[in-house]
Amino acid sequence: MTTSEINSEGCSAMPIEEHIARELDVLKARQRYRTMPEVGARSGRFISVGGRRLLNLSSNDYLGLGADQELLSSWLAAAAGSAEDGRFAMTSSSSRLLTGNHPLYGELEDAIAAEYASEAALVFNSGYHANTGILPALSNRHDLILCDRLNHASIIDGIRISEAEYKRFRHADYDQLEALLEESRGRYRQVFIVTESVFSMDGDLADLRRLVSLKKRHGATLIVDEAHGVGVYGSRGLGLGEELGVLDGIDILIGTFGKAFASTGAFGVMSNLFREYLVNTMRTVIFTTALPPMVLGWSLLTFRKQLGMQHERQHLLALASQLRGRLRSEGFDVPGESHIVPVVLGEDRKAVEMGGALREAGFHALPVRPPTVPENSSRLRFSLRADLTVEDIDALASIMKP
Ligand code: PMP
Repeated sequence: MTTSEINSEGCSAMPIEEHIARELDVLKARQRYRTMPEVGARSGRFISVGGRRLLNLSSNDYLGLGADQELLSSWLAAAAGSAEDGRFAMTSSSSRLLTGNHPLYGELEDAIAAEYASEAALVFNSGYHANTGILPALSNRHDLILCDRLNHASIIDGIRISEAEYKRFRHADYDQLEALLEESRGRYRQVFIVTESVFSMDGDLADLRRLVSLKKRHGATLIVDEAHGVGVYGSRGLGLGEELGVLDGIDILIGTFGKAFASTGAFGVMSNLFREYLVNTMRTVIFTTALPPMVLGWSLLTFRKQLGMQHERQHLLALASQLRGRLRSEGFDVPGESHIVPVVLGEDRKAVEMGGALREAGFHALPVRPPTVPENSSRLRFSLRADLTVEDIDALASIMKP
């Protein structure tokens, strides 16, 4: 809005509807306008979009657990047989601090804490709730948060809500992080380092070993978001921290249930003291209705099931390296090393066009554009899943030409 559009009382002369309609027009003109696609039935690794059955390369169901009909059927049969049992209620009807703290919360948190060999776990309504609640609760205006530039929007939103000062370091540039830590020595009550483990847009991995050693050397608190790491890395699917043997160096590890664990919600793994403090201060735990018992029970089932899915994890990562190898040899810019395989194309238009061409050929892969990714780095993002086959990847790679 320009100043000429503000009247003498400091108010806009134009109705709000006109402002937002103009902004939507700008988004459309810049090819940044978003709509929610009509998504139909899913069947295994296929999804029906706009009435066409496509190979789903855009889901976060990394282990294919959400498509496990047998598991779901047995769960639903159990639920139907025990409708009287509160375990299968579809609502918790209040916050965990009132009457919503169903015993399944305890079962789920105990199971998670035991697997991680940690003192405690705390379940949240979603990863978004976790990330917008933890830092505002733990930090105050005497603190500093150091944040990887490519961290997820939910982490950025948490930082915005918190009162702490914050600085972003260049993506995975731990020399810069170290310099910032040096510079901040003695100037803050506490310094927090926050990172994803598997970066969702670049598919690359944080150097958790280096981060743990930096945080120890500088007495910082390390928070790691493993939303895309759990289920995929580590022999029990506990994430990249397990894979690298650094779990006990992470102060708060966040995992989500909505991706490889095929449910909804999230969890933090932490000390008893952190848990006690968050239960007392974290607004996204206190002021929200608890998850339905039905969801908690399903999360417990999928969490336990995925512990033994090492074969699927290996297959998934083998598919990712097959696809990366093929696309790189065609000359594509394919960063990262995980099951998230981005093909960076630059202009928004190119990413949209290639997504369209793939759809015509039977593949569902969505373009990702700014502001989700930096300017001029629009991309197609393949998000692989363990129920894809070597032949699927072969078919995809053979139609991708720069
Ligand atoms: N963290 C990261 C790294 C994510 O990618 C996401 C979701 N895409 C979230 C947190 C939010 O998790 P949820 O979907 O459970 O809100």
